[in-house]
Amino acid sequence: TVATIGLSLIPVINKLHDILASSGTELSDISVPQVAVVGSQSSGKSSVLEALVGRDFLPRGCDICTRRPLVLMLENHSPNSDDDRIEWGEFRHLPGRRFYDFSQIRREIQAETEREAGCNKGVSEKQIRLKISSPNVLNMTLIDLPGITKVPVGDQPSDIEARIRRMIMAHINNENCIILAVSPANSDLATSDALQIAKLADPTGSRTVGVITKLDIMDRGTNACNFLLGKVVPLKLGYVGVVNRCQEDINKNRSIQEALAYEEQFFHDHPVYNSVSNHCGIPQLAKKLNQILEQHIRKDLPRLKAVLNSRMHAAMKELQTYGDVVESKAEQGAALLHILRRYCDDFSAMVDGKSPDMSTK
Ligand code: GDP
Ligand code: MG
Repeated sequence: TVATIGLSLIPVINKLHDILASSGTELSDISVPQVAVVGSQSSGKSSVLEALVGRDFLPRGCDICTRRPLVLMLENHSPNSDDDRIEWGEFRHLPGRRFYDFSQIRREIQAETEREAGCNKGVSEKQIRLKISSPNVLNMTLIDLPGITKVPVGDQPSDIEARIRRMIMAHINNENCIILAVSPANSDLATSDALQIAKLADPTGSRTVGVITKLDIMDRGTNACNFLLGKVVPLKLGYVGVVNRCQEDINKNRSIQEALAYEEQFFHDHPVYNSVSNHCGIPQLAKKLNQILEQHIRKDLPRLKAVLNSRMHAAMKELQTYGDVVESKAEQGAALLHILRRYCDDFSAMVDGKSPDMSTK
């Protein structure tokens, strides 16, 4: 999973977040990297996100499942705290309630989707915000978005495609957002909705990663090598191909660990993908994402430094208003004595009636 590949800068940023959080500082200035998935409906977006987080908790399926933007704030807590090994989720709309059971998180996502978007395939642009706190994640925000559809079904309005496109653009236009453009391997990349909409938001391709799903169900006699090597639609940051769980696996409750093991075996045994193994698999995708996030943070460092400097300056100024800083026990004792002596002086002056502002007469 994402967390298992520890690169140098991200732990530092995590630490910084921890310190800021413990000092009660707002995190808004320190940009948390965002990753959003885009693509057509049922291309495997939610499956990819889940595999990256390493937990089962997102509604997935062959119908429209993701009907509201889901903002997943992953929050790392250190494993040596009291809550060691414990992972939980907390929804913005249910503050204070911790979900330790991830299948219950999925049910709540579904219930909350229905509260806003109804039960008949409707969509809503109103976000669901879920914080996941775990020792096994990096501080970052993942955004699951409804897929692009063309034909209105159920309660969907006639302009459903335009609505979903607007919803997606509102999230991926943010320069801080890394776009995972998810396209299934069993249709032509040249017709990919994902790559098309990613290009609108990121014309230079500096923050778009291509993800090719469903490598396991391609037409016999074809393979995705040309896709993965960027020979069909070139992409600066390149492509990664993955194999997620099929619908039958979902129905049979196949675990994410089993699925990852299956994927590894699939690529290992495959005569073609064996030679492009650095383009294959969820672990490769996690590694690539980490590298991109790291570069993103590195680029943001000068600004980060300026923000921190100005905060430190303000804090120092405030500290000065509290008088001299005393560090050692001896100094503290001396300072206390000094205060007591002044108090005694003032007190005797008051008793003697010599102090005008403390006089009791
Ligand atoms: P989304 O609509 O893009 O979020 O797609 P989902 O993640 O909900 O997946 C849609 C359907 O495709 C589900 O039935 C998944 O089981 C299936 N699916 C996703 N990825 C793969 C894959 O790599 N291989 C296979 N065989 N099925 C997949
Ligand atoms: Mg989905």
